Amino acid sequence: FATSSSAIRIGLIPADGIGREVIPAAQRVLEALPNGPKFDFVHLDAGFEHFQKTGTALPQSTVDTLKNECHGALFGAVSSPSHKVAGYSSPIVALRKHLDLYANVRPVISVKSASTPNQKELDMLIIRENTECLYIKSERIEQDPKTGLKVAYADRKISEYASKRIGAMAFNMALTRQKLREQKPLAQRFWKHAPRVTIVHKSNVMSVTDGLFRETVRAVKESNPELYSGVDMDEQLVDSMVYRMFREPEAFDVVVAPNLYGDIISDGAAALVGSLGVVPSANVGDSFVMGEPVHGSAPDIAGKGIANPIAAIRSAGLLLEHMGHTAHALAMYDAVNAVLADASVLTPDLGGKSSTNDVVEAVLKHL
Ligand code: ATP
Ligand code: MG
Repeated sequence: FATSSSAIRIGLIPADGIGREVIPAAQRVLEALPNGPKFDFVHLDAGFEHFQKTGTALPQSTVDTLKNECHGALFGAVSSPSHKVAGYSSPIVALRKHLDLYANVRPVISVKSASTPNQKELDMLIIRENTECLYIKSERIEQDPKTGLKVAYADRKISEYASKRIGAMAFNMALTRQKLREQKPLAQRFWKHAPRVTIVHKSNVMSVTDGLFRETVRAVKESNPELYSGVDMDEQLVDSMVYRMFREPEAFDVVVAPNLYGDIISDGAAALVGSLGVVPSANVGDSFVMGEPVHGSAPDIAGKGIANPIAAIRSAGLLLEHMGHTAHALAMYDAVNAVLADASVLTPDLGGKSSTNDVVEAVLKHL
């Protein structure tokens, strides 16, 4: 699409709860980047609160604006009602579909600080396939004629197409990470070996579905030996992956997994770095990226001004990184890491007494 100016146009979708606090925080950091690009922010509606007001969780205008006018987006968080609400479905799931954001990318990096002396050094990137697996939601329930009791089934879809593109993303990102480490050895980046892709699966039990995932991702490396010869490849059964991730998280670089396993290991990995409030993610497709903090809308602390903005700020960094503005992304990560390492300005989830605004100010000072 054609934009009238050279500005980077970013759709901001704070949505619900603390999304309304952390997205403006991330916006302030983007606007303060030294010699940063010119941004054009577009504020867009979506979410459960929007649904309650208007009857729609994701207005068509939001989708159209993102598709036709924006280079990328930053999503806050959406409340998920604990009971089924007629007519409501998650706008984030719909957005991923509309924009074909087929990968959920989640860096999990530890920061050493006085307040976390025992934290393991980890620096991994989890790449979760985002379009299929059990999430195709094809479930049915039957009655067993013998016992008269219910039996529930779910279909699981693994395609060669989706496995191939997620595999290619994993190998390409392993190379990109390596390049970044060479360019600017961050004090906070711990991975010190050749780039490595770990394939997570359970093909000893699910030999057809997980077998196809494993074979297809492996074939990506073999299909382009020249490009990927420098990237090591190994694999973990998902149960052993969880075990090893908790015992020696420093053993992983890029980890690629089908949707459900990816979901589980990403949340597990988040637990290793202290708080949901610091873990960012990006929803990535071939032509669009949407940054999104991993946490939810946190209704228990919403409106109090104490939400940790770091996950959202890092998500904005990921957005820039994936749009090719690497130096600015690294500047954001460095500033955030300095605040964490210093540990004097932290929100309550990290054991501090500071507010969202205090943390933003501290990040801006380090920028
Ligand atoms: P949702 O249904 O939107 O996911 P939730 O109740 O599951 O809401 P989460 O946002 O997933 O809440 O958060 C789980 C816990 O972690 C909550 O106690 C919340 O306060 C805390 N938390 C999450 N994000 C942050 C943050 N950015 N800063 C501080 N605490 C957070
Ligand atoms: Mg939650």
